[in-house]
Amino acid sequence: MSTLREVLATGAPTYSFEFFPPKTEAGTRTLWNAIRRIEPLAPTFVSVTYGAGGSSRDRTVEVTKRIAAETTLRPVAHLTAVGHTVAELRHIVGQYADAGVRDVLALRGDPPGDPNAPWEKHPEGFTHAHELVTLVRELGDFSVGVAAFPEKHPRSPDWDSDIRHFVAKCRAGADYAVTQMFFRVEDYLRLRDRVAAAGCATPVIPEIMPATDVRQIARFAELSHATFPAELAARLEAAREDAAEGRRIGVAYATEMADRLLAEGAPGLHYITLNRSTATLEIHENIVGPTRGPLGTTSPSTSTRSAHVLAASS
Ligand code: FAD
Repeated sequence: MSTLREVLATGAPTYSFEFFPPKTEAGTRTLWNAIRRIEPLAPTFVSVTYGAGGSSRDRTVEVTKRIAAETTLRPVAHLTAVGHTVAELRHIVGQYADAGVRDVLALRGDPPGDPNAPWEKHPEGFTHAHELVTLVRELGDFSVGVAAFPEKHPRSPDWDSDIRHFVAKCRAGADYAVTQMFFRVEDYLRLRDRVAAAGCATPVIPEIMPATDVRQIARFAELSHATFPAELAARLEAAREDAAEGRRIGVAYATEMADRLLAEGAPGLHYITLNRSTATLEIHENIVGPTRGPLGTTSPSTSTRSAHVLAASS
């Protein structure tokens, strides 16, 4: 199998789906139903978020390894440095290597409990994501991804430092980046242009979050610091008690964003699924046409078209 690095180098749009490790038996069934619906589409990769702590972290490793062992999908393992010693991080990466997982999204993570609390480094751990990128690259032939923030990382004091540190993370060995959720295409385009102006050619894959329920999205947007457009919020608010209408609004909005992003040259689309495939697949079908075959074999239409941990804790 070619590496993700090689796949991205072809320039064909990548399509990927993000899951989180479920807490319950019922959650596990929901996740695997979604995985089995997505598998025949042969997406470029699927990713599994890394839990904020404790057993959810073990579940990330379990789910990722199971995807590698039991499906035809390429799993990308999210891994965060927070709360880990370097020795523990080495051990986890080693487990992935043994299971044939060759793709890691290297992240710093947020403080457990309150993601906005002051950042504290583990005494035997890392301070920033670039150190984890370096470690993973040293440990084997992994493709490594990193996080990017269309509205700047909430802890960054200004854009200059944000971009400088992002570029340093790419130069430490990242093959690609995936963005935080966002709801205004212009935020992605500005980030992309800033990264390019800093001389960095690392592909930045935009994340697509279907906004179908005003209660859920408002919470994610608050915790991820993504600006939620007032007009979209008003339309979803009006559909608060009408799930079908909320879904129609959210799918149409995300389709339009995705369509524009691809038309603007985004290297692919990374869909947050919340472990449910239906809204995501609707958006995806709007983009590539009826999804009967492998993704990426059809040209994207030009028709119309850590919140991560938060997703895990919802
Ligand atoms: P860093 O790149 O380390 O950046 C954090 C801050 O430090 C930024 O302000 C940056 O500018 C600054 N900085 C970086 N380097 C330096 C330096 N050398 N000196 C000074 N300042 C510096 N969280 C999870 O817990 N689990 C997940 O699975 C998960 N998946 C994610 C997936 C994506 C696509 C994204 C966008 C985020 C995800 N997150 C996840 C959330 C992420 O862990 C947090 O947003 C975290 O706050 C930032 O991680 P980072 O890797 O960008 O950190």
